[in-house]
Amino acid sequence: MSRLQNNDVVAIVGGGVIGLSTAYNLAQRCSNSTWPNVRIKVIEAFSKPFTAASSTCTGCFHYGFPESQTQPLKPLGKYSFDLWAAEAEEADFKATTGYRPQSCFGINPGSGQGLDELPDWVQKASSWNVDTEVLGTYNAVVNPTGVGGWLTSQCLALGVEILTGLRLVHVSLSTDDKVQAVTCYAKGGDPAMIRIECKQVLLACGPWTPTVYVALFPSSPIHLQWTTDAGDWVTIKNPCPTTQATTAFVSFANLIGEKLEFAARNDGTIWACGRRTLTAALPPPGHLNEPDESVIEELSDRARTWLNWKCNCHAKHASNDFQLISKGRGFRPAAKSGLPTIDEVASSELTDSHDGQGPVKKSPSGVFVCWGHGSYGLTLGMGTGRLVSQLLLGEKPDLDLSLFALHPSSNGSTASGKASSALPADGNGATGPQL
Ligand SMILES: Cc1cc2nc3c(=O)[nH]c(=O)nc-3n(C[C@H](O)[C@H](O)[C@H](O)COP(=O)(O)OP(=O)(O)OC[C@H]3O[C@@H](n4cnc5c(N)ncnc54)[C@H](O)[C@@H]3O)c2cc1C
Repeated sequence: MSRLQNNDVVAIVGGGVIGLSTAYNLAQRCSNSTWPNVRIKVIEAFSKPFTAASSTCTGCFHYGFPESQTQPLKPLGKYSFDLWAAEAEEADFKATTGYRPQSCFGINPGSGQGLDELPDWVQKASSWNVDTEVLGTYNAVVNPTGVGGWLTSQCLALGVEILTGLRLVHVSLSTDDKVQAVTCYAKGGDPAMIRIECKQVLLACGPWTPTVYVALFPSSPIHLQWTTDAGDWVTIKNPCPTTQATTAFVSFANLIGEKLEFAARNDGTIWACGRRTLTAALPPPGHLNEPDESVIEELSDRARTWLNWKCNCHAKHASNDFQLISKGRGFRPAAKSGLPTIDEVASSELTDSHDGQGPVKKSPSGVFVCWGHGSYGLTLGMGTGRLVSQLLLGEKPDLDLSLFALHPSSNGSTASGKASSALPADGNGATGPQL
C-alpha cells in the first residue's frame, strides 16, 4: 500500500537534476490510476530551475567511474544511464538535449590512431591516439541546459508545480516529529514567508544540503559530511555549424597531465572546464559565485590552443574568431565518502531525542535526504529520481539502497551520529554559506 494518499502534498526542495528527476518520476507514477494522485511542489531558490551545477556541468552520461571510492555507484550508474537511454528513444528528448551516444573521447600520446573519430572542432595531431572508452564503454553527451528544459516541461505537463525564488527556511513537525509543513522565504515577496502544508519533504539541495539540514534541524545527531569541489568553466562559440556529429566530449587530461575537457553542444557552443577548485566558498542558496579570472584566462588560452578555429569541415563557415559567450563556477555536491545519501531520516533523529547509543528506531518522519552525487549527478539523476519516487511512495526500490543510507551498514562515513559529531561539517576548511 502507498504511504501517500490522494491530494497529499510532497515538497521537493531543489530544482536541479535530482529534484526534477524525482518530481518527474513521482508524477509519472502518480498519473497511473493504481497510485494516489499526489500534489508535487518543487521549491527552488533561484528564479528558474536547473541554474546551479545541473546546468553548469560538462554533460556526459556514463558509468565508467574511475575512483575506487565510487565503484559502488556502478549499478546505480548503469540503471540511470539505461533510463536516460530509454528517454532518448523519443525524438523530443533527443532534439531538446542533443543526446548523442558513444561520443566521449580521450586524447593520449600515441601515433595517430583513431583521429577520424574526433569532431571537426578539435585539432588533430599525428602524435595522439584517440581513446573511445575514456569514460567507459557506454557513454553519451547531452546539453545539460536542454536536459533541464526537457525535465521542466515534462514535470509541468504532468501537473508538478515549480515554485521559484523560494528558499526553504523551516520544516514544521508534529509532536511525534513528523512533517506537517515547510516555510519558505520569498525575497521581496508579499508575504515574504510562505507556508506549504505537506506530508513529505525531500531535501535535494545539491551542495547546500548539509548546511540546509543543519539549519533546519540544529539538534539532530545527523551530520552530513561534505567537502568542497567546484569547477570554473567557460562556453565559447563553436566555429563549426551544429550537427549531430559535432556534439562530443574530448578530454585532454592524459595528454597534458591535468583535467581539461571540452564538450560541444547542440546550441552552437563549446563548454570548457579544467582543474578542480577545492577551497571556494559556497554562496548562499539562490546565489552564484564568480569564477577565478586567472582560471578563465587559462581555459580561454587552452581553447585557442587545442580547438580548431580554422576548421576545414564540409561547410564553408570557418571563423577565426574566438568568442567567449559565458563563464562561471559550479559546485559539485561532494560528500566526503564519495557516495550519495538517499534515505529517510527517522523521527527520533530529527531532534536530539535519540542519544546516539544503540540502533535508531526507524519511525518514518517524512523528511527524506538525497544529495552527494559529486561528479556524476547528471548521469545518476534519472535513476536516483526513479528510486526516490519509489521510497516516497513506500515501494521497495528497484535497487538495494543500503550503501546510500544515513547509517550505511558497510560504509559508516556518509553521515555520522553523535559519536562523530565533533567532525567539522566541512573537511577542507572552506567556508559554508550563510543561510
Ligand atoms: C564543472 C562540473 C562538471 C560536471 N560534469 C558532469 C558530467 O559530465 N556528468 C555528470 O553526470 N555530472 C557532472 N557533474 C556533476 C553534476 O553536475 C552534479 O552532480 C548534479 O548536477 C547535482 O545535481 P543536484 O540536483 O544534486 O544539485 P544542483 O544542481 O546544485 O541543484 C540543487 C538545487 O537546490 C537549490 N537549493 C539549495 N538550497 C535550497 C533551499 N534552501 N531552498 C530552495 N532551493 C534550494 C539550489 O538553488 C539548486 O538549484 C559536473 C559538475 C560540475 C560542477
